[in-house]
Amino acid sequence: MRLGNRILLMIAGAAAFAAPAMSNSTSARSQFDAAIAETKSAMMSDPAKALSKARSAEHLAKSLPQRDAEIGSATAAWLHGEALTRLGQPAKAEPVVAAALQTARKFQPNSKLHGDLLKASASIASKTGKVQAALPTLHQAFAIYQKLGEARAQSLVLQNIGSLYYDARDYKRTIQYYDQAAAIYKDDPAVNVALHNNRANVLKEMGRTDEAELEFGKAIKLARKMGSPFLEANILSNLAAARLQANKLQAAEAAAVEGLRYAVGENVEWRPFLLGTGAQVAFARGDTKKAEQLISESFSGVDLKDSTMAFRDFHESAAKIYEATGKTDLALAHLQAFKRLDDSGRDLAASTNGALMSAQFDAANQQLKISKLEAQQVQRELALEQSQNRLKSYAFLIVVGGGAAAAIILAMLFAVETSRRRRREMSEANVQLTYTVNHDMLTGLPNRSYFRNLVSETLEKSLGNGERCAILLVDLDRFKWVNDTLGHNAGDELLCAVARSLEEIVGTQGHPVRLGGDEFAVIVPKAGSDQNLHELGNRIIAKLSAPQIIEGSTVNIGATIGIAVSPDDASDVKSLTRNADLALYAGKGSGRGCTVRYEDFMQAEVEERRSLENDLRHALPRGEIEIAYQGIFDAASERLIGHEALLRWNHPTRGAISPAQFIPIAEEAGMINQIGDWVLRTACIEAAKWPENLTLSVNLSVIQVEGNGLVTGIVGALAASGLPAHRLELEVTESVFLSHGGKAEETLEKVRSLGVKLALDDFGTGFSSLGYLRRATFSTIKIDRSFVKSASHGSQDSIAIIRAIVSLAEELGMKTTAEGIEDQDELAKIRDLGCNQVQGYYFSRPTLTPSVDTPLLAQSAAA
Ligand code: C2E
Ligand code: MG
Ligand code: MG
Repeated sequence: MRLGNRILLMIAGAAAFAAPAMSNSTSARSQFDAAIAETKSAMMSDPAKALSKARSAEHLAKSLPQRDAEIGSATAAWLHGEALTRLGQPAKAEPVVAAALQTARKFQPNSKLHGDLLKASASIASKTGKVQAALPTLHQAFAIYQKLGEARAQSLVLQNIGSLYYDARDYKRTIQYYDQAAAIYKDDPAVNVALHNNRANVLKEMGRTDEAELEFGKAIKLARKMGSPFLEANILSNLAAARLQANKLQAAEAAAVEGLRYAVGENVEWRPFLLGTGAQVAFARGDTKKAEQLISESFSGVDLKDSTMAFRDFHESAAKIYEATGKTDLALAHLQAFKRLDDSGRDLAASTNGALMSAQFDAANQQLKISKLEAQQVQRELALEQSQNRLKSYAFLIVVGGGAAAAIILAMLFAVETSRRRRREMSEANVQLTYTVNHDMLTGLPNRSYFRNLVSETLEKSLGNGERCAILLVDLDRFKWVNDTLGHNAGDELLCAVARSLEEIVGTQGHPVRLGGDEFAVIVPKAGSDQNLHELGNRIIAKLSAPQIIEGSTVNIGATIGIAVSPDDASDVKSLTRNADLALYAGKGSGRGCTVRYEDFMQAEVEERRSLENDLRHALPRGEIEIAYQGIFDAASERLIGHEALLRWNHPTRGAISPAQFIPIAEEAGMINQIGDWVLRTACIEAAKWPENLTLSVNLSVIQVEGNGLVTGIVGALAASGLPAHRLELEVTESVFLSHGGKAEETLEKVRSLGVKLALDDFGTGFSSLGYLRRATFSTIKIDRSFVKSASHGSQDSIAIIRAIVSLAEELGMKTTAEGIEDQDELAKIRDLGCNQVQGYYFSRPTLTPSVDTPLLAQSAAA
C-alpha cells in the first residue's frame, strides 16, 4: 500500500491575480506584477521556475515606492517560500516566510497577504515537524480569510487542516475537513481536483476502494478539463496504487500504463511511481523478470539512502522482487530504506497525533461548522461576483496577449538599467549587507550570529590579558503576554524599549545583544568581581521590571539573568554560553526575577529535568499518564459528593512521578495545554458514568487560564462526554490573579457563564488575600492542607484564618473544602470550624478506580 501523493494548491490562482495589473500606471509596478503573476501560474506545475520568478520579483519589489516595496517584497518572499516548500526545502523557506510575515503584520495586518503568509508558515511548520504550531496558525489564517470573505482561501485552509490529520492517520477527521472545504467553495476546478484526489487517497487508506476510485475518476476528469497532464499523471499513479491494493491487477496496470503516457517531459516526477506500481502488478502475477526490470527502472537515479516517503512501499516491493531473483544485496538495501521510511512515517504519525490531540481543535471544529453555515449563506452572492470578475480577467488577458512582444522588449530594457544601477549601488550595499547580517533588524542590536563572533573576540583578548570576562543572558518574563494581548506591534515596541534600556544601563561596560525572541545578552569584556556582575544584573532587572507605557497601556514585565564567567566557568564560546544558559535556567526555576551565577551542580540538575521533559513529550501518546480520583465528602454526613481528578505519571524506568514535579515541567515546556485538555476530556467521560449526584473537580494550570483555548476546550469536553456543565468544577489557584490585564479573570467569567463551577484551590499557600475571594465568583474555597494541619495542632493564627475564610465564604454563598484530612482529630477540628466539605487520606486516597457508592465508610478507607 502506498501513501497517495497529495496535490497542493496555491491560495491565489493566476486568473485571480491578473486583474490588479490592469490598474498599475508605473512600469516598475507592472514589471513587478507581471513577475508575481508568472510566479503564481508556475507554482503548481513547475515550482523550480516559480522559485526563480519569485526571486526576480523580490528584486523588482525594491524599485517600488517605500511602503509598496515592503509589501511587494513580502509578497514575493511568500511565493519564494511557497516554491521552496514545494521543492522539498521547508527549512530554507522558514526564515524567508517568517521575515515576510513580520512585514505583513506590520504593514498590512489582517490582510489577505497576512493570511497567505500564515498559511505558508503553517505548511512549513507541519513539514518541519512542528505540527503543534501549524494548527493554531492555520486557525489564525482561517479567521483572517473568514473576515475578508475569502471563501476559496478558507476552503484551502480547511484542506490543509485535513491534511494534518492525514499525516496523523486520523482519516475520519481528514474526511470531515475535506468535506467542509468542499462545502465552502465549489467553483474552482483546481480546488476541486485537489479535493477529489486527496479525498480519494484518504478513502483508499480507509480501505474504501470503490469510493476512492470514484473520487479519483472525478479528479482525473477535472484535470483533463484543465489540460494538465502533470495532474493527470499524478492522479493516475494514485489510482493505480488504489486498484492494486484492491487486487484489481488488470485495472491497476491499465491506470499505470495510461499514467506513463502523461509522465513524460516536464511530468516525469510521477514516472517512478507508475513504473513501481507496474512492477508490483507484474510481481503479483508471478512475472518476476518483468517486475525486476520495472522496479529497477523505477529506482533509477534514486539514492536509496535518501529516498522520500512516497517510495516507502516500493522499497518493500523491491526487496521482495530482488529476493525472488536472488539479488540479496539489493534486496537488503531496499529493506533498510523501507525500514528508515517506515519508522519515520510512524514517528510522524505518532507525533502529529500527539500534537493534534488537543480538544481545542474539536471546539474549533464546531466553530467551523457554524462558519460553514454562514459561508454557505453568502456563497451564492460570492459565486456570482467571482464569475463576473473572472470574465473580466480573461478579457484582460486576451488584450494583454497582443502586447507580448512590447512587454518583452520593455523587460529587457528594464533589466539593463537595473544591472547598471545595481553595480553603482554595490559598494554601498555591501556595507549595508554586513550590517544587516550582523544586526537584529528590529532593535538594531547585534544579533545571535554576531554575538558568537563578539564573544569569541572578547574571550581571545581577555585570555591573552589574563582578565576575566563574562556573559549575561537576559530572558524577559511575561513578554509573551504583551505580545498575545496587546499585539505584535506592542511586542515590537517593548523589545526596542528593552534594547534601549540595556544600552543605557550597560553603557561602556559591555555590549548588549538580541539573541532572538525575548532573549537578550550582555557581553562584559572586563568582568571585575562577582559582586560587580551581580550588581549589573540586578540593575538590569530593576530597570526592565519597572512599569512601562507601551502603546498607551501600562505593562509590567520582568527579567531573569544567568551569568557565566571566563575563565572560571569555561573558556570557549560554546561552553560559556551553555553555562550562562544553565544559570538562567536555574534562575527561572527558582522563581524568576533574579540574577544567578553558574555553578557546577546546575548541569546535572538541568540534564535530569531535560530528560524528564523529553520523556514527558511521549508520555501521553504512550499511555503513561493516567488519572486518579480522590473523593470529596460532605463534612457533616460524610457522604461522597464528588471526586477530584489528579494526574499520575507512571514513568517506564523511574516509576511514579508526582504531578507536583511534572506539572511545572509541562508548564514550562509548553505541554500543559495539551495535557490539561486531555485531563478534561478523559475525566469528563469518566464522570459521565457516575451517578448524577456526583461532581467532578479538575485542576487547571494558570497557563491554561491565560491561554486562548480553555473555554472551547471545556465546551468540547462537555459535549464529547455528555456531562452536564453544573457537575464540573474547575480548581484554580490564587496565582491566576497575578496574571496581567484581567485576561484570566475574563476567561474564568466565561467558564462560569457556561454553568461550570469554580473552586479556589490551595487557599492559604499563596498570598491568601481574602480580597481575591470577591474578585471571581467561586463556588468553593479549598483550604490548603498546611492550614488544616497547623489548626489541628492548635495554631491560633491558622484557626483565626480558617474562621475568617468560613464566615466570608458563607457570606458570599460559597462552600469550603478542607484539604488533606488525615485523621479523626483533624476532621473534628475542621467540623468545629464550620467547613462544609472535606477531602483527605482519612476518607479516601486517590485511586484509578474510584468508588461511586455513597456513603463511603470513612473508617474502612482510613484503615
Ligand atoms: P491539589 O489540587 O491541591 O491536590 C491535592 C493534593 O493533595 C493531591 O496531591 C492529593 O493526592 C494530596 N492529598 C489529598 N489528601 C491528602 C492527605 O490526606 N494527605 C496528604 N499528605 N496529601 C493529600 P497530588 O495528587 O500529588 O497532586 C499535587 C498537585 O498537583 C495538585 O494539588 C495539583 O495542584 C497538581 N495537579 C494534579 N493533577 C493536576 C492536573 O490535572 N492539572 C493541573 N494543572 N495540576 C494538577
Ligand atoms: Mg486541586
Ligand atoms: Mg489543593
